[in-house]
Amino acid sequence: MKTNLPTLFVPDLQPPALNVVIVFMPLITFTENGIYCPQADVYIDPWRPVPKALITHAHADHSRYGMGKYLAHHHSIPVMQHRLGEIVAEGTGYGEKVQINGVDISFHPAGHIPGSSQIRLAYKGEVWVISGDYKLADDGFCAPFETVKCNHFVTESTFGLPVYKWKSQVETMQEINAWWADNKTNGLTTVILGYALGKAQRILANLDTSIGEIFLHGAIYNSNLALEKAGYVFPETERITPETDKKRYKGSIVIAPPSAMGSPWIRQFKPYQVGTASGWMALRGPRRRRNADRGFILSDHADWAELNTAVKSTGAEHIYVTHGYTSVYSKWLKSQGLDAHIVQTEFEGELSEIGESATKETDPE
Ligand SMILES: [Zn+2]
Ligand SMILES: [Zn+2]
Repeated sequence: MKTNLPTLFVPDLQPPALNVVIVFMPLITFTENGIYCPQADVYIDPWRPVPKALITHAHADHSRYGMGKYLAHHHSIPVMQHRLGEIVAEGTGYGEKVQINGVDISFHPAGHIPGSSQIRLAYKGEVWVISGDYKLADDGFCAPFETVKCNHFVTESTFGLPVYKWKSQVETMQEINAWWADNKTNGLTTVILGYALGKAQRILANLDTSIGEIFLHGAIYNSNLALEKAGYVFPETERITPETDKKRYKGSIVIAPPSAMGSPWIRQFKPYQVGTASGWMALRGPRRRRNADRGFILSDHADWAELNTAVKSTGAEHIYVTHGYTSVYSKWLKSQGLDAHIVQTEFEGELSEIGESATKETDPE
């Protein structure tokens, strides 16, 4: 392991205290600003402005405006800069050790989106892992989830109900490609909806490019430009502009964020079929499909089985359940003999990622 002292995060030098009062403080506390490590004086994914923030990943609800300094995985930085503008930010690599006031801090793959990290903090034998958002299945696109042993594990619970069970990505992508090919045969344009950071790129990376041309909504095109700066490579695509020859849309596929549904923008693809790709599609019915013609089960979060595998494999005795089905999931963990707690956070789960919440995608439409 390489040890790095990030220049932005060097603690201020303080004179040695003469009278030391030892008070027991857990390494991590949950505050109104966010998840806090007092010993290192850093917050993890804070939702209010604080001086120093460690960021698990670049989604809008985990990576917010107004922090003095940001530390995140290298691959998150270009996307954060694209979304947040001028920020003071430093990047770190997976497994690199950063030491702040005696606390060992390292980032480990969370398998959620490019750059997404679980953040490990260790001090005097106490180890915490804050997992942000994660999934266990390897999508062949972002670094796959790594199990990190710890005493205290902070987990999301976006899909923390047994009804959420994902198909394999291969199966879902075969369905999407077959649907696109059918639409092409019928002289239709195919529009597939997936949020602009993560889902859209995962779909793009797995399209059968022999079927036809691929067009991108501006928000997705811009996310891709940021990811290309981080070294990601995509199949050939074209950004949709008012000048694009509309005749070219016939038989091609358009990738757009969920907010495109029902907008005037989508009408230019008529006649078209629209599909949506999300974990929510595991629940049947048109309401869930948000009036799309087709729903495909594809999530960047862990399903029920994956959540349980992740929790168990960390070996943690204490589990803190954040955004999602917090109450159901923490009860379940307690019934399994674990010390489980609900933690109130301002993370929004997949709602923010599909653009349903107040803190919407900040990308231009
Ligand atoms: Zn996320
Ligand atoms: Zn989240």
